[in-house]
Amino acid sequence: MTDRIREFLRQRQDDGPCLVVDLDVVRDNYQAFAKALPDSRVFYAVKANPAPEVLSLLASMGSCFDTASVAEIEMALAAGATPDRISFGNTIKKERDVARAHALGVSLFAVDCQAEVEKIARAAPGAKVFCRILCDGAGAEWPLSRKFGCEPAMAVDVLEHAHRLGLSAHGISFHVGSQQRNTGAWDNALASAAAIFRECGDRGIALSMVNLGGGFPTKYLKKVPAVKAYGAAIFQGLRKHFGNRIPETIIEPGRGMVGNAGVIEAEVVLVSKKSESDEVRWVYLDIGKFGGLAETMDESIRYPIKTPRDGGKVGPCVLAGPTCDSADVLYEKQPYPLPFSLEIGDKVLIEGTGAYTSTYSSVAFNGFPPLKTYHI
Ligand SMILES: *Cc1c(COP(=O)(O)O)cnc(C)c1O
Repeated sequence: MTDRIREFLRQRQDDGPCLVVDLDVVRDNYQAFAKALPDSRVFYAVKANPAPEVLSLLASMGSCFDTASVAEIEMALAAGATPDRISFGNTIKKERDVARAHALGVSLFAVDCQAEVEKIARAAPGAKVFCRILCDGAGAEWPLSRKFGCEPAMAVDVLEHAHRLGLSAHGISFHVGSQQRNTGAWDNALASAAAIFRECGDRGIALSMVNLGGGFPTKYLKKVPAVKAYGAAIFQGLRKHFGNRIPETIIEPGRGMVGNAGVIEAEVVLVSKKSESDEVRWVYLDIGKFGGLAETMDESIRYPIKTPRDGGKVGPCVLAGPTCDSADVLYEKQPYPLPFSLEIGDKVLIEGTGAYTSTYSSVAFNGFPPLKTYHI
């Protein structure tokens, strides 16, 4: 919470939940990344918060952009990024979208199998490709599973295939899992990357880039290391596995760039119990899983929540959204402690919500409008 957000909310007249993002915090985060990893170019992961204000600010500071669709490429271009500062980092692309990206001037693509390489060779001849390798995501609160990437041994063949088809086999990428609280999580992946560099070298293919992905955390309830600590651990891993031949690197922070810049203000719609003797209260807010808080799925991301009654005695609450879908419960397995004095109509602040909220909100489920956002 910043003074600027507090003042904005004090003066706000509109009804309904809203997200307020302080762009000064985004600016500070960008500078912290640039300082912590001075030799890595920053490709902001657009999906975390694609607001034009965020993209324009980052473009003006020199950031590059990691995009997952033609629409995101167009947003990055509209914000002032040139196509050489944009990567098409989704490993799952329609060939006509590759062609469209190529026509827009984008020349850096992610792949994780030969079929995807072939699409790029046909639709974006001569482009640079990097191959994503699997990462187990251990230590991450929002792991990215096996959906993206291939086994390291296969990456060598994928890159060789790209090379044979006239593409530039540029390098390797991985993602250690989002909200990664272990600064050492990059080490294993860097070992794999170095082995792939060697193997490709033996086949006459000189790779030059390692894309270190995202994963840098936002502070929610638990402590997280500073970005400086990630920079140091990553540099150590690069030295250990690449020796004096450290490759060009890029990072793709999403959550770590915008998460702590945003606060959602919501309202308590109802406080009730399921029986008189229950200890646990049910607290219903005017925002839930369908209003932008989708990352509470499996209670993965636990947001800090501030109320006007803080300081008084607290008791366990099930926290739920306002829609008529029983999946719209935020925290139940692990109830959320909130003040006993909390009342209907109280405004609560949900902190650390600058990433992965606004674009997760549904269009009109149950008649609730998408989350209102203000970037100040
Ligand atoms: C979502 C995504 C990111 C951003 O991840 P964070 O954990 O939010 O930093 C980076 N790279 C790729 C390829 C992604 O899909």
